[in-house]
Amino acid sequence: MNWGVNLVKVKINQTECITCGVCEDVCPEVFKVEETSKIVEEYRVGGEDSEGDVPSDIDCVQNAATQCPVSVIMVD
Ligand code: SF4
Repeated sequence: MNWGVNLVKVKINQTECITCGVCEDVCPEVFKVEETSKIVEEYRVGGEDSEGDVPSDIDCVQNAATQCPVSVIMVD
């Protein structure tokens, strides 16, 4: 449910993720890197650990996407 907070869609292409850990270092509120990078449970959507809806005020998401060395984090 949307309580008036703007959400951004975040998607990780886990197939191409090299498990470097940068996204979790930059934005641990949203990313958890285990055998691959995942969206933390709190923000997951559709039962997928690669997709999430994240409040837009968590602005480290964009930094994580920018700093991912293989550019596999998509932010809408
Ligand atoms: S920064 Fe990119 S390559 Fe590194 S763990 Fe995160 S999603 Fe994977």
